[in-house]
Amino acid sequence: MTAATCEVLSPGSLAAAQALLRDRPDARFLGGGTLLHRELARTGWTGTLLDLTRVPVAHAWQPGQLGAAITMDRLAASGAAGLAPAAASIGNPDMRTRATVGGNCSPQVSGCVYLALLALDAAAVVLTPDGPRRAPLARWNASGTGAPLLAVRFEPAPMAFERIDTEPRGPRPLCAVALTRLPGGDGLRCAVGYAVPRPRVLTLEGDPYGALLAHVPADRHEITERCLRQALDQLRGTEESWTSCTGSGLNGPGSPP
Ligand SMILES: Cc1cc2nc3c(=O)[nH]c(=O)nc-3n(C[C@H](O)[C@H](O)[C@H](O)COP(=O)(O)OP(=O)(O)OC[C@H]3O[C@@H](n4cnc5c(N)ncnc54)[C@H](O)[C@@H]3O)c2cc1C
Repeated sequence: MTAATCEVLSPGSLAAAQALLRDRPDARFLGGGTLLHRELARTGWTGTLLDLTRVPVAHAWQPGQLGAAITMDRLAASGAAGLAPAAASIGNPDMRTRATVGGNCSPQVSGCVYLALLALDAAAVVLTPDGPRRAPLARWNASGTGAPLLAVRFEPAPMAFERIDTEPRGPRPLCAVALTRLPGGDGLRCAVGYAVPRPRVLTLEGDPYGALLAHVPADRHEITERCLRQALDQLRGTEESWTSCTGSGLNGPGSPP
């Protein structure tokens, strides 16, 4: 069973998408299908797939705003601090041409780019039958929502993303850490995933290692500590290059290709 046996609707405008959302409350949302097509093949689910990748706002790409239909290869090529390495780390080159920000941030995936956006304290712009609404990205994700993601918004800032994998690399990292510095201080906002049952956002102050490891199972301490050390190094490097440029790209040095 594939998406071919489902009804796939691809509205080209926000108004059309909104109307379909009202008419088909049981529809599922389709991004690039890198995971969903596998799931459909496995479960035999049939029904309506709502593909929002043609809705213009889902392609919006400017400093501080990233559409849900943006693909990982484009994000990886942007050089955006933290976001580009997170996108570049996903799957393989072919998959990255299809995998979208929307799919990566969905409750079913909560993947690497989602972690980077959590560290940026991003907001979700979601579509409801009454129109677009804004909510914290983490809250939207945790609600296991029926409202599709249209875009994410965030304040561009120096940031870092690091992951540690098995050798050879599997589909899921052992640990991934995304970091930004909290405004006006030495504290860090840290999103950690894979080493913990669900992605978490933590404020790290004082001893960042102790503060992070207190939330991580003991058998993942060594790997998480290594991941955080690499992320801290990367963050310092990003901060240096950030101060020497205007930060005019999507999220610092680099810009949408
Ligand atoms: C071999 C392999 C390796 C992978 N490696 C990684 C990895 O290293 N890191 C990582 O993070 N992920 C990885 N993934 C997971 C996944 O492929 C990616 O996270 C990808 O970004 C998902 O995006 P997509 O557009 O293909 O989602 P889809 O497959 O289209 O959808 C996935 C889920 O998201 C929902 N969804 C899609 N778009 C939206 C939207 N706009 N709003 C709300 N819900 C939506 C779908 O309903 C579905 O439940 C891997 C997958 C595979 C098969």
